[in-house]
Amino acid sequence: MGRVYNFSAGPAVLPEEVLKEAAEEILDYKGTGMSVMEMSHRSKAFETIMEEAEQDLRDLMNIPDNYKVLFLQGGASLQFAMLPMNLMKNKVADFIITGQWAKKAYEEAKIYGKANAIASSADKTFSYIPDCSDLPVSEDADYVYICENNTIYGTKFKTLPNTKGKTLVSDVSSCFLSEPVDVSKYGVIYGGVQKNVGPAGVVIVIIREDLITEDTLPGTPTMMKYKIHDDNKSLYNTPPAYGIYICGKVFKWLKKTGGLEAMKELNEKKAAILYDFLDQSEMFKGTVVKEDRSLMNVPFVTGSDELDSKFIKEAKAAGFENLKGHRSVGGMRASIYNAMPMEGVEKLASFMKKFEAENTKK
Ligand SMILES: *Cc1c(COP(=O)(O)O)cnc(C)c1O
Repeated sequence: MGRVYNFSAGPAVLPEEVLKEAAEEILDYKGTGMSVMEMSHRSKAFETIMEEAEQDLRDLMNIPDNYKVLFLQGGASLQFAMLPMNLMKNKVADFIITGQWAKKAYEEAKIYGKANAIASSADKTFSYIPDCSDLPVSEDADYVYICENNTIYGTKFKTLPNTKGKTLVSDVSSCFLSEPVDVSKYGVIYGGVQKNVGPAGVVIVIIREDLITEDTLPGTPTMMKYKIHDDNKSLYNTPPAYGIYICGKVFKWLKKTGGLEAMKELNEKKAAILYDFLDQSEMFKGTVVKEDRSLMNVPFVTGSDELDSKFIKEAKAAGFENLKGHRSVGGMRASIYNAMPMEGVEKLASFMKKFEAENTKK
C-alpha cells in the first residue's frame, strides 16, 4: 500500500522527505544512540533542535527581534483562553467572527472579560470576509482578534482589518507558513501546527515582547502565562519535544524549497487548478465569494447530497482521502496545504472532471 493523496484539514499531509528523514533517525538520532522521543529535553542534542527550529522559523517569517517565539502545548484552542488571560488588561477585546474557530475564541474570551463581536459573516454561512476597513473598534479594546484563514469555510483575510491602532491577534493555524507575512503588523500570531507545519501537540505563538508581562488576570495558572514560557525559552516544563523536532524539519524543508515566496507561488498555482475547474464546472460549485477564497482549504458542493456521497466514496477508492466537508457544513473540502504535491491537485481535478462526465445525463 503506497501513500494516498491526503486532503485532510488537520492533522494533515506532511512532506514525504521529512517523514523519511525522521524514519531514518528514529532509532539513533545523529549518533546519540537514541530517538528524539527518548531524549532529555535538557540535553545538548535537543537544545540544538530547539535553537535551530526557532532560528529557521525566524528566517522564514522574517520575525523582528522584538518578537518572541514560543513552542507551547494545548493546541490552538488553549490559546482561546491564554490570550485573554494574558492580554485583557482592560478586560475588553473585539472579535471578527468569520467562522467556528473565531466564534469559539470569542465565546471563551467572554469568560474573562467583555468580548465584542464587531463584525461577522454569519448571515451568509461564513462564505465571505466582512469589510473591515472601518469597524466600530472599542476605545478600550486590549486587542482585535481574527481567524485569518477559516479552515472549515475556506475563506481568508486578503487584507488585515483596520484595528485603529489596537493590537491585532491572529489565529493562523491553517495558513501558517503558506505565504509571506509582515509580522510587525500583529501583536500575536499563533497557530496549532497540525494543519500546515507538523504533528498535533505543538502550538507556536509569535508575540511582541511588550505584550508579555507579569500582569495577567487573577487566577491565571502558571502554565498559561506567556512570561513563564518566555523566561524559560519554552522549556519551563517538558515541551512537545518530538513534535518540535518534526516542525524543525519542516522549516528546513521550506527553506530548501525556496521559502515563503516560493511557497506562495506554488500554493496559488495549486489552488488555481481547483478553483478554475470549479468556476467552469456545471456540477461542482465553490461555496465561497471569489475574492475571499483560501489557498489552503477549498470547499465545494454538487448541490445534491447523494452525488456528494457518491463522489466522496469513489474518490476514496481512487486514492483521494479525506475529501468530506466539515461535519457542520457537509459537501466536500480539499485541504491543499504546503506539503500537498501539485500532482495530487492535478489528479484530483482530473478525477472531478471524469466524475462530472460520468454523472451528467446526456
Ligand atoms: C484546527 C483549528 C483550530 C483548533 O486547533 P486545536 O489545535 O485542535 O485546538 C483553531 N483554529 C483554526 C483556524 C483551526 O484550523
